[in-house]
Amino acid sequence: MLMTSGKNLSSPKVLERLSVLGQALDNQQQLHAFDGGLLKLGKEAERKSNDDEFSSAGDRSPARSRSRQRAPSGQGRSPSQAHHFGSEAHEEAFGTEFRVLARHYAALGFEDKDGLWVAVSSMPLGPAGPQANFLVGVFFDRRVAPRGWAFSRLGPRAAPMALKHTNLPDASICAMTKEDNAWSPSDGLVALIDHYSIWAVKSWHRQELGWWPGPQYGFGSYYRKREFVAKEWCGCGSGKRYASCHQTFDFLESEEIGRRQFKGAFSCDYEDRAVPQAIMDAARSRWKNLPSLVSAFSHRRIVWGEL
Ligand SMILES: [Zn+2]
Repeated sequence: MLMTSGKNLSSPKVLERLSVLGQALDNQQQLHAFDGGLLKLGKEAERKSNDDEFSSAGDRSPARSRSRQRAPSGQGRSPSQAHHFGSEAHEEAFGTEFRVLARHYAALGFEDKDGLWVAVSSMPLGPAGPQANFLVGVFFDRRVAPRGWAFSRLGPRAAPMALKHTNLPDASICAMTKEDNAWSPSDGLVALIDHYSIWAVKSWHRQELGWWPGPQYGFGSYYRKREFVAKEWCGCGSGKRYASCHQTFDFLESEEIGRRQFKGAFSCDYEDRAVPQAIMDAARSRWKNLPSLVSAFSHRRIVWGEL
């Protein structure tokens, strides 16, 4: 296995935590997100609430701690947390929402002509675990789905997280689909980053333990053959495991047909998926060199529910 997420993932304690959370996700148990992205099982969250102060952050958002404001990780720039945005338009569109985000996550906000770049770090497995670094683009026009990229390491040797369940072809995070009803723009950035944090746990789980926990989508035989293992949920929405659903069919279908079908759906080959150069440069510069939102979103518009 590639150890792109750093040495933290090799600790037995962290691996055990990853396994526990993975099992819960595979059983469709809801996880609760706390400050810094820390994820807990329902039971753990209840237990903790006896001696700590937790509040529900809204109808669909998980409970989260409001006990302390986390200091940002100081990656490069001072955070916008304490400040208002320079432009009235940004303040109006993102001010309150961003400051809420910065209370719960180490977050930086960067104004763009057409919206906002948000850089967030999350430690879903706790302080002993690895850090996931997200760069998220949000347009003023909230009908455009936000797009995020995940990195296990920033700086000159920046490394993106594994590509499974990232979108084609720009390798942006695919943490939910519209059909899930898991997130909509009105849920806000905190809930979005909570979902990204859960996605990160699933990604590490696959990297270290060999399989993706929980329901997933996957279009076409070629994609599923490349990305799914037998014990994972099938990608067709049947609620069955891959082994007892599409796997046999997928292996009977020829690679040529599978590849053609894939290209028809995504206008690119499976192998073409990659984090765009400009987004890699942003991670290498620790967000000093950010591309324009428009250029970063220049790939084919992502339709909810594709993958
Ligand atoms: Zn299936």
